[in-house]
Amino acid sequence: MTTKTVTKPTARLIEVFSAIQGEGLNVGTRQIFIRFALCDLRCHFCDSAHTWSTPTTCRIERSPGLRDFEIYSNPVSLTQLIEWVKRQNILPLHDSISLTGGEPLLHAQFLVEFLPQVRTVTGLPIYLETGGHRPEQLANILPYLDSVGMDFKLPSVSGESHWQEHAKFLQLCYESQVEVFVKIIVSDKTDPTDLEDAGLLVAEVSPQIPIFLQPVTPLAASEQLTQNPIFAPAPEQVLIWQALMKRFVKQVRVVPQTHKMLNQL
Ligand code: SF4
Repeated sequence: MTTKTVTKPTARLIEVFSAIQGEGLNVGTRQIFIRFALCDLRCHFCDSAHTWSTPTTCRIERSPGLRDFEIYSNPVSLTQLIEWVKRQNILPLHDSISLTGGEPLLHAQFLVEFLPQVRTVTGLPIYLETGGHRPEQLANILPYLDSVGMDFKLPSVSGESHWQEHAKFLQLCYESQVEVFVKIIVSDKTDPTDLEDAGLLVAEVSPQIPIFLQPVTPLAASEQLTQNPIFAPAPEQVLIWQALMKRFVKQVRVVPQTHKMLNQL
């Protein structure tokens, strides 16, 4: 008789901490952030390049917002992560849990087991921040999500191109009735044709899906990933692009990264 080996789910993490969400529909709310390691994209504007590979250790905040980090080894077990999130969840502080990265969907197998349990123990809604290019993995965890922020990667700004995957991804979100919004990072290099194509794609799924135009936060010289530095768009460009996108969807908001202004993580 062969015995089946049951492997316990583990995840590779960067950090767990409590902070104010600085982007998109949940801007200003307090969240427990779980930042997963690994990303399979290489966006030119990435401010999280340290997540691209797995560090041997992760840092876990002890008390919400106090930055009293403890260091633990990767990978971490599901039960351990639940304990850390429970420790952060001092009522009534947090509005939701944010799954971020890196690309959290690279951990979909782990999340399928983790999410129902963390929902039960905290009672908090679950928010996914994602590059929006892995619809198959999204489908596996959609039943456990409350809201999704999908980054739309414009080739002219990010260097990435995932039009078909974005369309499938948004369609899945729309059909599941999870709350979804689209975030588009814009820079001085933004090609308006890319923006139009993105607006059309979103509107074909539903013109009710809100779009957030997020002017890029320029990276420090030491963080630049390409030879050509990326700059924020001029104010008049942003006004023109908001008007352009309003031809496609009802809500187009322009919101820069407010956590950077507040000097938050
Ligand atoms: S998807 Fe996010 S983490 Fe990955 S390269 Fe792009 S900006 Fe960086």
